[in-house]
Amino acid sequence: MNTIEKIWSNILDRIAVLVSAPCYEIYFSRLKPVALKDDKLILMTEYSSVKNGIMKNLSAELNMAIRESMEKIEGVVIILKDELSSYVSSDEVPKKKEEFVPSIQKIVFQKNYTFDNFVIGDSNKYAAAAARAVAEAPGTSLNPLFIYGMPGLGKTHILHAIGNEILRNHPDMRVYYTTAENFTNDLIYSIRNSNNAELARQFREKYRNLDVLMIDDVQFLANKTSSQESLFHVFNDLYTAEKQIILSSDRPVKELTYIEDRLTSRFASGVVADIQPPSFETRVAILQKKAFHYKIDVTPEVINYIAEKEKYNIRLMEGMLKTVGYFASLNNRPADSIEFVMEALRDSSSNQSNEVNMNKIVEITCDYFGVKFADICGKKKTKELVEPRQLAMYLITVILPEIPLATIGQFFGGRDHTTVIHARDKLQQKIADDANAKKKAEDIKNLVYNR
Ligand code: ADP
Ligand code: MG
Repeated sequence: MNTIEKIWSNILDRIAVLVSAPCYEIYFSRLKPVALKDDKLILMTEYSSVKNGIMKNLSAELNMAIRESMEKIEGVVIILKDELSSYVSSDEVPKKKEEFVPSIQKIVFQKNYTFDNFVIGDSNKYAAAAARAVAEAPGTSLNPLFIYGMPGLGKTHILHAIGNEILRNHPDMRVYYTTAENFTNDLIYSIRNSNNAELARQFREKYRNLDVLMIDDVQFLANKTSSQESLFHVFNDLYTAEKQIILSSDRPVKELTYIEDRLTSRFASGVVADIQPPSFETRVAILQKKAFHYKIDVTPEVINYIAEKEKYNIRLMEGMLKTVGYFASLNNRPADSIEFVMEALRDSSSNQSNEVNMNKIVEITCDYFGVKFADICGKKKTKELVEPRQLAMYLITVILPEIPLATIGQFFGGRDHTTVIHARDKLQQKIADDANAKKKAEDIKNLVYNR
């Protein structure tokens, strides 16, 4: 890299943190440093939209990036290709006409999301082992890696841990992380900003140059046909070049119903690893680690209490711990009793009570039938329990259709998603045939929305 390229690369690193991914791609990745004149860096672009767009809307970010980069330049001048000769004498102009290879935003992985900070238990040990193996030897046998699990169980953490680990061992590797949502936005921007096929081609081209591509939350691609189409090509390009692909999803491959088969079959063609809700012991270990990390002074009794309170989502569990920590620091004392914790969490849990979630639906169904929450999620299959259990499952699929069936099954004491499908179909039929069954469902639904 020559000096001007180095200067620009340092500035770009700062810009990457200051602007959104699409903005970076559309504007800043399409500038090329061509000269240094009177302490000003001359950047060239082929596109007047890039020049105008940056000058009009992004000069504050650009100037801040220059300041933060600590490069000793006074500023930049953006020129169009045909202005080049008036800024740079002919011997400075690069001899060979270099092609614009669209660059991809350099990813800054979350510093804390490392393997060291990831607590391993039975629920996630397979996913963690697969992730470690991929991080050690990307692009070899474990390709693609597909990780799935309910929200808040550590998928994003694992993806970032892989990114951190690969870059630690191979700082030059081109590792890119994006969410399926950003991938889609990025594609939309590329298409909107070009009236020719050129940018669509460039879109695909820039992914082709990667060593590792991670796409988080692929369930978001449901029904997005052009994103699926693009990902299909990107996937094939990378896979044939033996580059590593890593995907995450909140549900198993077979439940990605609105994603084309040719894509889901590829998702499942390598290693598939799931993450289950953690055991009590793992939850405690995670809370201890987080308390240490955030310097929150809590007693083991309090940790156990929080671990009991939230069983399905580590993000929420961590949120409770932070709320307690914040409350403790406000009151200038450690969180050392259950009463204190209940007080700290009172506001946050009362806020949640209006929200419709699985818990609420099951609780209300239990009240309605006079059965216990633990029994409805337990193993027993007596008639008194099967009816409310199936009805609650059905209502969850109707009221909260975004929740994956496997997640619902999990919630009901680790049942399979096929059990949920069975309950849903059975109840649908029953409600259509039987006015009494219909009334029960309506009653409970009303309670759910109005309590
Ligand atoms: P997901 O992407 O599956 O929704 P995240 O990766 O965002 O979940 O995890 C949510 C939070 O829980 C993060 O703060 C993450 O660090 C934490 N977390 C999840 N699993 C673990 C684990 N096994 N050890 C430590 N922290 C974890
Ligand atoms: Mg995530």
